[in-house]
Amino acid sequence: MIWNEEYETLPREALEALQLKRLQNLVERVYATVPFYRKKLDEAGVRPEQIKSLDDLRRLPFTTKQDLRDNYPFGLFAVPKEQVVRIHASSGTTGKPTVVGYTKRDINTWAEIMARTFQAAGVGKGDVLQNAYGYGLFTGGLGAHYGAELIGASVIPISGGNSKKQIMIMQDFGTTAISCTPSYALNLYEVAEELGISLKKLPVKVGVFGAEPWTNEMRKEIEEKWGIDAIDIYGLSEVIGPGVAFECVEAKNGMHINEDHFLVEIIDPETGEQLPYGEKGEIVFTTLTKEAIPLIRYRTRDITRLIKAPCICGRTFVRMEKVMGRSDDMLIIRGVNVFPSQIESILMETKGILPHYLIIVDRENNLDTLEILVEVNEEFFSDEIKKLQQLETSIEKSIKEMIGISAKIRLVEPKTIERSQGKAKRVIDKRKI
Ligand SMILES: [Zn+2]
Repeated sequence: MIWNEEYETLPREALEALQLKRLQNLVERVYATVPFYRKKLDEAGVRPEQIKSLDDLRRLPFTTKQDLRDNYPFGLFAVPKEQVVRIHASSGTTGKPTVVGYTKRDINTWAEIMARTFQAAGVGKGDVLQNAYGYGLFTGGLGAHYGAELIGASVIPISGGNSKKQIMIMQDFGTTAISCTPSYALNLYEVAEELGISLKKLPVKVGVFGAEPWTNEMRKEIEEKWGIDAIDIYGLSEVIGPGVAFECVEAKNGMHINEDHFLVEIIDPETGEQLPYGEKGEIVFTTLTKEAIPLIRYRTRDITRLIKAPCICGRTFVRMEKVMGRSDDMLIIRGVNVFPSQIESILMETKGILPHYLIIVDRENNLDTLEILVEVNEEFFSDEIKKLQQLETSIEKSIKEMIGISAKIRLVEPKTIERSQGKAKRVIDKRKI
């Protein structure tokens, strides 16, 4: 199902013409209204009228999360405060949060792109959507909510947490679609199992999962356990929230970027240079239509690549692959770049392993150590020690082969690793560097 046939299937040429017009308008707008951008553009020696083609994008300066922090709370807003109808903020792990604002039109844009997202997942009028993304300052809950209402689904604004109640509502209200983080979906499965409820027997047919990176192996796991299609979506609050990109249920292979609203590029995170199409690097977005807090070349720190091939669903929007990791929480262990997702892939391919793990990085005698706590299923754990040791050794060998460094695997009983109600914490880095 395509929500907005006209835009989502625009021929490339027409799309690029639209993008250029919007880009020119954007640069003019921020130059006139945001002192931060006027200064940055002056420093880069670029004037708005010099933007003549989409290639000129590379002449524009980047925006980083630090820039948002430095201009806390409203320094990057491009409209007077009375035009801002909503304010969200992303939880700051250190210090102040990052603040974003929306005009009435921004809220409509957001609902539109989330409507596209849900339709692409096969959710429509008549569906009952249990929205278990967190409501509040976090953009997930309300972002999904407005889009789902726009398509005419019945939305249950249950928010995250309270898993037993989630299961009860799911049974009693006839939920047909759920939206939450993928790790929370696994958490819900366990709770249902404890209650003796088979999710497969419920009418839920699709899950729209995002807000944290996850692998295709984890997708398979969720699909089997829930008996649903598991769809990946992408977004971040600085750019708008959820809805920046979404998978179609037909292909489930890469997320279509809403290119009429977001201009995408992939750069080398070290040099900042644009990379050729299809290469792996950091994904960067320019918001083409956002009014309250438009951003030029926002560095997401997410590592992925673009897929050029046309999609079977008929959309012309380019796709991005699943996020493989972040350029800033990428672990460097003994000089080797390690993405937690690489480790996750290995674990998910191993029989007897549950999708719950914790990566612990430490330093002993000036040498980095990598330890991974992994849960195994009940029957495996009650087996003889020798079998467990064999399993540990075999995982250690696979990790060594894939990422080139040794890890200590420690198999633990089911449900010993702390569960998340939102984004899962998978890495503990104890090193003081
Ligand atoms: Zn598609």
